[in-house]
Amino acid sequence: MARAARAARPTAPRRREYWGHGDLAGVVPAPGGRTYWFTSHASDLGSWADGEDRWRSSPAVDVTEALEETRRVFSARPDRAPEVLDALAGATPESTLAQRILEAPPLPRLVHGRAVLVGDAAHAMTPNLGRGACEAMADAHVLARELGRTEGDPARLGPALARYEARRLPAAWALPPVSHLLMRTALARRGRRARDATLRGVGRLVGLVSLTRGCATPSPS
Ligand SMILES: Cc1cc2nc3c(=O)[nH]c(=O)nc-3n(C[C@H](O)[C@H](O)[C@H](O)COP(=O)(O)OP(=O)(O)OC[C@H]3O[C@@H](n4cnc5c(N)ncnc54)[C@H](O)[C@@H]3O)c2cc1C
Repeated sequence: MARAARAARPTAPRRREYWGHGDLAGVVPAPGGRTYWFTSHASDLGSWADGEDRWRSSPAVDVTEALEETRRVFSARPDRAPEVLDALAGATPESTLAQRILEAPPLPRLVHGRAVLVGDAAHAMTPNLGRGACEAMADAHVLARELGRTEGDPARLGPALARYEARRLPAAWALPPVSHLLMRTALARRGRRARDATLRGVGRLVGLVSLTRGCATPSPS
């Protein structure tokens, strides 16, 4: 279960994500002195009723209930980050989104005849990589480019869609399992000390490498 919210709160000092004991939380400074914050934990809220068709319905999560549950989860431990508690204290149901996270199984095809899958329809993944919308835009970009190459010739449509599928299927297969693994790691209840020690080590290594070699941010070609 995940919660995402935008609340009018004092700006958090900088972007941070906290991984706890079966839950995670993050704060990101936003324009206008606002803070974007999110939390995630396992929950029964918004579950399907027995016998409900899981392919045709996505049960809504009651935001008020979700906020109450989240506050209970996050107030249970004394070592919580103050900015997370502050965001939760100031949140209102009107300014908060609460969602159940659904993943899609890997699909063998993205194209069937003239039907094309893009975005979450093609590769719905957990939000932990922060890549779902990025990949949806990449799908749209590649599809538009390939359609443009047909120059309106219907005979070139099939090959164009086949090229779209060939270019986008690797990401559609590769990223959801990585995002899932990240979610499992972030929300782990067992092996937390080993996880935190490993991450601290990786963080130090990354810091050292970026100090000695400098950091480069890839830009779109
Ligand atoms: C909590 C959370 C945090 C996230 N954070 C990030 C992030 O930091 N970075 C990132 O890149 N991604 C993030 N994502 C993922 C991102 O939101 C999705 O991957 C992205 O919105 C997918 O876009 P989409 O257009 O494919 O689908 P959607 O955004 O779901 O759009 C589909 C649209 O189709 C409409 N629709 C559905 N059925 C029908 C129908 N039958 N007829 C007509 N319309 C219909 C829906 O109402 C909806 O408007 C996050 C997701 C969540 C839940």
